[in-house]
Amino acid sequence: MKVLIASSEIVPFAKTGGLADVTGSLPKALRKIGVETDVILPLYRKVDRERFPLTQSGPPVRVLLGHREETGVVMETEAGDGGRAYLVRNDRYFDREFYYGTKDGDYVDNCERFAFFCRSIMEWIGLSGRRYDIIHCNDWQTALLPAYVRTIYSREAAFRSTGTVFTVHNLGYQGLFWNHDLPITGLGWELFTPKGVEFYGKLNVLKAGLVFSDILTTVSDTYSREIQTAEYGHGLEGVLYERRADLYGILNGVDYEDWNPETDSLIAARYSREDLSGKKACRDDLLAEFGWSGSLDEPIIGVVGRLTAQKGFDLIEQIGDWLATQPVRVVILGTGERKYEAAMNELGRLHPDRFSLRFAFDNRLAHKIEAGADIYLMPSRYEPCGLNQIYSLRYGTVPVVRNTGGLADTVADADDDPARGTGFMFNGYDPSELMNALARTLTAYADRPRWEAIVKRGMAKDFSWEASARRYVSAYEKALAKKGVPS
Ligand code: ADP
Repeated sequence: MKVLIASSEIVPFAKTGGLADVTGSLPKALRKIGVETDVILPLYRKVDRERFPLTQSGPPVRVLLGHREETGVVMETEAGDGGRAYLVRNDRYFDREFYYGTKDGDYVDNCERFAFFCRSIMEWIGLSGRRYDIIHCNDWQTALLPAYVRTIYSREAAFRSTGTVFTVHNLGYQGLFWNHDLPITGLGWELFTPKGVEFYGKLNVLKAGLVFSDILTTVSDTYSREIQTAEYGHGLEGVLYERRADLYGILNGVDYEDWNPETDSLIAARYSREDLSGKKACRDDLLAEFGWSGSLDEPIIGVVGRLTAQKGFDLIEQIGDWLATQPVRVVILGTGERKYEAAMNELGRLHPDRFSLRFAFDNRLAHKIEAGADIYLMPSRYEPCGLNQIYSLRYGTVPVVRNTGGLADTVADADDDPARGTGFMFNGYDPSELMNALARTLTAYADRPRWEAIVKRGMAKDFSWEASARRYVSAYEKALAKKGVPS
């Protein structure tokens, strides 16, 4: 079976969040179990051309965008284990400072940029003679691909037996555009209906993936059920409910080559479940990174994440004054919306001995927080899977999370289940519930033998990719079966 994974961000080329971690590590896991896997993404300015020497793959592709034609070139480079990475080049669209937009909002031509990306992939496959059994698409930026396979390109030999799998990593980002953008996608107005890509008068690009892909997956079991409800469906719960027979929850794996305190070269000292002594050096190093000197005794609470409503920063803001009365040090690393940056800054200004902040995208510091903190806080409003809490478990940093989505599937509350607990959880999206969970966490922290047992249980958890990669293979087989192709 030959698979092409298409995504707007893929580690190690481009990353803003967990999507890139997943589309970077799943191909490695697939190759390990014998599935030929290539990946394709846009060639952004930030892609490191020195580290990844690029050569041109085939002739330029010409893409129709409404009445205009736009040209692109697909570049290629080695992706390890025999796989190739392809990067679609068009400098007008992708040679920009950011991937999707600035702090002030999305790039206004995002529909055009990613329609171009998807059409280029279709044209390039057609021209290059490559044949993929499966095109695995991820989030709205690649959601037009399943629609293209079923409509504009359905009669082309290159796609007649191609199955499509569409993975929802975050239903909160739908690619919503005004209806005048529809012609740019090349899809016909007959699809601009509630059963197609129309969404309350707008074009919803994500819906193209939800409606046209052979198989749908999302990144945890709980989230796969939640998104069929009004609370978590972002208006698309009906579409997802209709397709529930084709919808599977497959938990993200973790690349333990990147995220493992025993081998991590980005942290101050290595440590393991058997010998935790190095964690102390990581702790001191983290305090110094955040401008605090000496070995302070209070537990360090770490937060890494996009500063968005999804990640619960409004709850952190609301409990900030209370948290400042507790014996803790809070370190926050994030980039995102100005209002959350301002709110976190204010906490730092009011309580400089309790809160220290860094507004940057800094992978090294993210690793240092996972290793040096004692507690990892992730009070998400919703969380499709979440990776940081899984990294935290491996780094012996006890997660405090809301009981939702992938957080519910990866953490167990240590008060509710003393024999198996690995963290602390709260249910309602409510500041008093979060305070209660943190208060329980601090009580447990004070009981050293109990705390150490919780830490070690978490470190023993294994979320490596192999089982999840096999589940993706089974999703690919189902997609091919739907096409009537024996796998
Ligand atoms: P999401 O994909 O919703 O952003 P996840 O928890 O699934 O959340 O994944 C987030 C990934 O992005 C993790 O690998 C995390 O370390 C990384 N990350 C997020 N914000 C930053 C940041 N400011 N600096 C470095 N890494 C970050």
